[in-house]
Amino acid sequence: MDTMALVTMGPLLKRAQAARYGIAAFNMIDYNSARSIVEGAAALDAPIIVQVSVKTIKHWGYKAIAGWVRMLADDVDVPVALHLDHCSDADVIRRCIDAGWTSVMFDGSALPFAENRARSQEIYRMTEAAGVGLEAEIGAIGGVEDDKFVAEDAAILADYDECVAFVKDMPNLAVFAPAIGTAHGFYKGQPKIAYDLLARITAAVPIPIALHGGTGLSQEQFDRCIANGCAKVNISTMHKHRFIEGFVGVRTEKPKLEEPLPFIAGQYEAMKKDVLDMIRAFGSAGRAAHAAGLEARP
Ligand SMILES: [Zn+2]
Repeated sequence: MDTMALVTMGPLLKRAQAARYGIAAFNMIDYNSARSIVEGAAALDAPIIVQVSVKTIKHWGYKAIAGWVRMLADDVDVPVALHLDHCSDADVIRRCIDAGWTSVMFDGSALPFAENRARSQEIYRMTEAAGVGLEAEIGAIGGVEDDKFVAEDAAILADYDECVAFVKDMPNLAVFAPAIGTAHGFYKGQPKIAYDLLARITAAVPIPIALHGGTGLSQEQFDRCIANGCAKVNISTMHKHRFIEGFVGVRTEKPKLEEPLPFIAGQYEAMKKDVLDMIRAFGSAGRAAHAAGLEARP
């Protein structure tokens, strides 16, 4: 397969959903983290989504992030999408599109339904005109995302009828994120995933579903979510922990080390191991050509 550079995620996710595997979407932190994500995917011949939170963009800048990820994608033979995670600011979305992001998420889940729908449609028109994929959300996913906190028991499941109405005028939506009981961060108790609701939404809505709050779910929970239509599986919290623990682990092992590169290498290996584990867990290893539409196998 030739180098694919950056691609839009909608077609990848449609093929993944049809074949019932999940594409991992990791929240990158810096260049080392982005490299562990892209090279981890390449090592397993898997499609991958590198997603970025608004605060990470504000830290590094649009051009730096787009440049890193494009450069990494150019060096591998698997499809890589660059995605903006949870964003409610149209200006940030516009700037990501201009800088080379291939998809963006508009998160209007804090708004009343009608307003979320109207704002999502405005952003949809913007992304369609730019040839960029859009992820939109309804309901409230629990936990912390950037500085927004939704208590796990206050998380609101998406309403089935609202889901159907919401996506009706956005037929080319790349991925849809209805709240199905998962939460961001580490789970305090057992997550109560609404599999029946997920299955009903998947049956009614011809759009791949995003699973937010992937950190801490079991293999069985991943399997059931993917079997019921989730094609994009988000991992952020665990990656953040690997970023910190990988670095600190080198210091614990070699307290007198003064050369910084072994720290960065230790951090890279810790993050990459988790990327490999998750890609295997979601069934997307060996699926690069399939996701890219370069394989006859359905
Ligand atoms: Zn999320």
